[in-house]
Amino acid sequence: MNLQGHEAAPIPARRRPTAARAYLLNQATVDDYRRTVTAGVDRVAGRVAGVDRPFTGVTPDRLAPAIGRIDLDRPLHDPAAALDELDSVYLRDAVWFHHPRYLAHLNCPVVIPALLGEAVLSAVNSSLDTWDQSAGGTLIERRLIDWTADRIGLGPTADGVFTSGGTQSNLQALLMAREEACATQPLPRADLLPKLRILASEAGHFSVQKSAKLLGLGRDSVVTVETDADRRMRPEALAREIERCQRAGLVVMAVVATAGTTDFGTIDPLPAIAEQCRAAGVWLHVDAAYGCGLLVSRTRRHLLDGIEQADSVTVDYHKSFFQPVSSSAVLVRDRRMLRHVTYHADYLNPARMVEQRIPNQVDKSLQTTRRFDALKLWLTLRIMGADALGELFDEVVDRAADAWALLSTDPRFEVVTRSQLSTVVFRYLPAERHLADDANLHAREALAASGAAVVAGTKVDGRHFLKFTLLNPETTIDDIAHVLDLVAAHAGRYVRARTAAEMALPVPAEVSVAEPCHVG
Ligand SMILES: *Cc1c(COP(=O)(O)O)cnc(C)c1O
Repeated sequence: MNLQGHEAAPIPARRRPTAARAYLLNQATVDDYRRTVTAGVDRVAGRVAGVDRPFTGVTPDRLAPAIGRIDLDRPLHDPAAALDELDSVYLRDAVWFHHPRYLAHLNCPVVIPALLGEAVLSAVNSSLDTWDQSAGGTLIERRLIDWTADRIGLGPTADGVFTSGGTQSNLQALLMAREEACATQPLPRADLLPKLRILASEAGHFSVQKSAKLLGLGRDSVVTVETDADRRMRPEALAREIERCQRAGLVVMAVVATAGTTDFGTIDPLPAIAEQCRAAGVWLHVDAAYGCGLLVSRTRRHLLDGIEQADSVTVDYHKSFFQPVSSSAVLVRDRRMLRHVTYHADYLNPARMVEQRIPNQVDKSLQTTRRFDALKLWLTLRIMGADALGELFDEVVDRAADAWALLSTDPRFEVVTRSQLSTVVFRYLPAERHLADDANLHAREALAASGAAVVAGTKVDGRHFLKFTLLNPETTIDDIAHVLDLVAAHAGRYVRARTAAEMALPVPAEVSVAEPCHVG
């Protein structure tokens, strides 16, 4: 009987599978599933085996028409044909992070156990919002959160949740900090919001500013704290800013310390910052999106000392744990803080489920439907183990130190702050100093266009610099030396061409800013 009191209609006999239904994964299609996914894996494996440079240098102008021409309303009905097509519009020109001369951003080569996890999690397709959509997945995620919190040393009341990335982790941490500030301040919320301040260093991540905007804070809500010569937040400057805010009737809702700045790979002095925060009663968030790899290092874990005093921590396993995107988490010292993102829906996670102790992760998350990304880390720990991950990360940190040493004795270059992690920020320094910015910009573009190597660029004190982010243990110091030669060659030729132009001589035909330069 249904609600209206009618007899339920008899269930129709199972229909004959149609062509469309043959695409669904179920008992009848497991062979096709195996074949199709294996074909995709084979295609990627073939590409990986054949990659001889990190990038082909393809431009959006060249690729966009090919992708635009594909008629999405005319399916190929053939995985092999679709893979052929995909090869021509994506795989052939992809940026390959596993290549030893990909040295640009915080992208890691991925470990195979995590790829196994990726394949499993998307096929089973658990959604981690509620127990009744994931069962064991929920408990596996919880174990990994506890494991991470333990490694950080957050204590017995810690908790957290996997997120889509450091940006989301930072947002959630700052949301909780804002709610705590609102809960403890006597002012009405509307009056308080414009007075809230977040203190962070200039080297902190821009997701802090973005979060502030999303959290309805004012334009001036993120206050920059001075850094030392190594771009680490100065604790005395932090004390000064906290006091200045208090004198001005402002409320510091959080201090964001960075454990591994994106550009410089330096770690703010966490113990001293934690002490300032404790004294002032301010929420300490540690953004360890990058530096979290040290949690599994057997030789460098001490660099994170003080992180255990944080109120919240961001970790990006997809940065320094060699995990595929996405894999990230936000952790809190006091699990009650997660209540600030708890909402109940009758259809999903009614409040009574809390009393029944049904573990619904949606109660702790900004997301609802959510991937079982934790499985990748789980299989990584179960197959290769944490020490092996730490070894990989230690290796790239060592390599960055070697690269820094190499650069610091090379008269062609100027190198900045010595990283505590695996970045190296440097620039080509021509005798014609006024051309330094343009020469480095050109070198980076020319290098990417040639595809021989990919390096990043950034600005230091208003000047254009280049950056290596080393996350691939396969990158040797010879690779780095070779890339430096390429940079110097591109930059040098550019400088010569510009100097010639400035002297009203004809520009050598071999160099133009727009054209990629190919160097030996
Ligand atoms: C990368 C990074 C982030 C942002 O993380 P996503 O995973 O890219 O969203 C935040 N903070 C720091 C220090 C980072 O390096």
